[in-house]
Amino acid sequence: MTTPDKPRLSIVVPVYNEEAVLPEFYKRLHEVIKDLHGLSGTEIIFVDDGSRDGTAKILSDLVRWDKSVRALQFSRNFGHQIALTAGLDHAKGDAVVVIDADLQDPPETIPRLLEKWRDGYEVVYAVRESREVDSWFKRTTARFFYGIMRTIGNLDLPMDAGDFRLLDRKAVEAFRSLGERHRFVRGLTLWIGFRQTGVLYPRAERYAGSTKYPLGKMLKLAWDGVTSFSFAPLRLAIYLGLIVSVLSFFFGVFVIFGRFFFDQTELLGFPTHGWGSLMVAVLFLAGVQLIVLGMMGEYLGRTYDEVKGRPLYILREKIGFDE
Ligand code: UDP
Ligand code: MG
Repeated sequence: MTTPDKPRLSIVVPVYNEEAVLPEFYKRLHEVIKDLHGLSGTEIIFVDDGSRDGTAKILSDLVRWDKSVRALQFSRNFGHQIALTAGLDHAKGDAVVVIDADLQDPPETIPRLLEKWRDGYEVVYAVRESREVDSWFKRTTARFFYGIMRTIGNLDLPMDAGDFRLLDRKAVEAFRSLGERHRFVRGLTLWIGFRQTGVLYPRAERYAGSTKYPLGKMLKLAWDGVTSFSFAPLRLAIYLGLIVSVLSFFFGVFVIFGRFFFDQTELLGFPTHGWGSLMVAVLFLAGVQLIVLGMMGEYLGRTYDEVKGRPLYILREKIGFDE
């Protein structure tokens, strides 16, 4: 390990309309930071993801009071994963911790992440000890999703680990070299490799306010995860095509034999003039084709997005940074 004797720590916190939790979050984080030793300094980087409440005001006050606090303000809401990315882009620390602002990720876990880092691990992710605070729906869909990622994404995502984690400087630089825009951060931090380990922590309830991850955003994140790590949905067309071709071949044989050996108007007991079955077959196949076309469109659209090469985020303001 080439960690300096007195390393610096950065803490990246994405925030979106979190005025209800920020003061308490800062207080708890501050308590933890002041007891950390062996560090030459700590910076806290809040990334304001286009909040429309009092978040910006609280952040500018914090920057004024505390020299170690910095804030990035997005010009609009770009999403949690992009906010994390912006924080990692601006963090200077030898180790960088990414944590949510709603106190579901307890700041008191940070010293344990640092301990593993000092043991030589370059990525230390926090694993939820229990998920009782999450709804049955969230737990079940999460399990299903991680299963899918494991099989078609070839990505052995640790179960019950979110984005709460510590990255060594080397891992941060590797992460920053990835330019893709539809990003699934926890997948990418696994993909970059390095020595990785987990630390258990008790997942708390959201301190105040409501979730900023409604179902729509959750689904988008899951879909970004699948499409950025797997071509499997694209291959769906091949499999469905094979199945339908084989079935229709046998059906064809059945029809031809029937034509020769049975009554003209009846085929093994089925009347041959059923438009109903025809309609079903036509509609079913049209549906399958549209679904497959849609899948291809998803990948094509993503490719288009990447090719445009727009910046990942636009900053309105950077406050508290040295330069
Ligand atoms: N967040 C963000 N941009 C968004 C949505 C969420 O920066 O578009 C932040 C949010 O402020 C919080 C973290 O991401 O600090 C996790 O969000 P939340 O706690 O609402 O998600 P949940 O824990 O319910 O999945
Ligand atoms: Mg939360």
